[in-house]
Amino acid sequence: MPRNIRSLLLDDLREWIDARGFESYRASQLAGWLYNRDLTAVEDMHNLPAALREAVSEDFGTSAPAIVRESVSADGTVKFLIGLDDDKVVESVLIPRDERLTLCISSQAGCSLGCDFCATAQLGLLRNLEPFEIVAQVLLARPRTGGHPITNYVFMGMGEPLANYDRLLSAIEIMTARWGLGISPRRITVSTVGLVPQLERLVKESSVNIAVSLTAASDELRDKLMPVNRKYPLDRLMAACRRLDLPRRKRVTFEYVMLAGINDRDRDADDLVRLFSGLAVKLNLIPFNAFPGSSYEPSPQDRIEEFRNRLLSRGVHTTIRISRGRDIDAACGQLAAAGH
Ligand code: SAH
Repeated sequence: MPRNIRSLLLDDLREWIDARGFESYRASQLAGWLYNRDLTAVEDMHNLPAALREAVSEDFGTSAPAIVRESVSADGTVKFLIGLDDDKVVESVLIPRDERLTLCISSQAGCSLGCDFCATAQLGLLRNLEPFEIVAQVLLARPRTGGHPITNYVFMGMGEPLANYDRLLSAIEIMTARWGLGISPRRITVSTVGLVPQLERLVKESSVNIAVSLTAASDELRDKLMPVNRKYPLDRLMAACRRLDLPRRKRVTFEYVMLAGINDRDRDADDLVRLFSGLAVKLNLIPFNAFPGSSYEPSPQDRIEEFRNRLLSRGVHTTIRISRGRDIDAACGQLAAAGH
């Protein structure tokens, strides 16, 4: 299949425009259509010459993903089921809260990491998303916010973003470039299970925020919950986090899914304190969201609060995530494009 025109960076567009013999200003004009508006069909890009539109269609794929279903939660969260060219689907979630409007973006259809507590893992990896399929999630959500600007973009949807590194980076480039969507990288967060080499690269190659999904403070437990830990055990992951050169964003953010009786005991909190010693962190506790076939129970709310207080009293900056969109299976760890 030819590359999709909507995955090209401005330099790639320029190179192609030159090679095809069109005037060079046509590259930014084309980028304007591709990235600054709705997902316009190439034949509707009316100020481009017909020959250029035809050349685009000859050399590239031009399709755009579309929303096939929209579900609205009682709490205002909206889940979009997005159809791709090959009939695969992914989900993205729009989460309003106070003054914030967060878009949760998918980076893969399915996921290969096999975390035991996550619904997406049950799908296995179906495939990586192309840059245009990542960016399209933003372009599709924007006109559906009732006029509110999206304030935060989080790669916390389906898939492991750092397992799709090059395409993720191109998507981030399109999202943040002036010629692209012009989003500030400070508004973007990439969440990862902790693929160490890619994590180190991302910090060098972009200035987006990073969140590391930890969920266990000992190798013994993390090996069981997150098989990736056998490849990148905690000492390696934490050493990498200590080395990350985070100039403006001083703290590393960690996420921790609270599983009743598994990782929510006092001694787990004490292990976390030890793990974080000497490192400026922000810890976000996520109440476990159940899904069909899941074998864990959520920690009771008062246990989550005690756990947080224990960490706070030892100087670990800890917050509790308020789960949204559970009634439409849109909360963390529930995205499995079920019922499609
Ligand atoms: N693969 C990346 C991006 C997905 S983010 C990552 O793991 O970071 C999804 C977040 O939701 C992760 O922090 C993950 O640990 C968490 N999560 C997964 N399953 C969950 C569940 N059932 N309930 C609550 N949170 C879950």
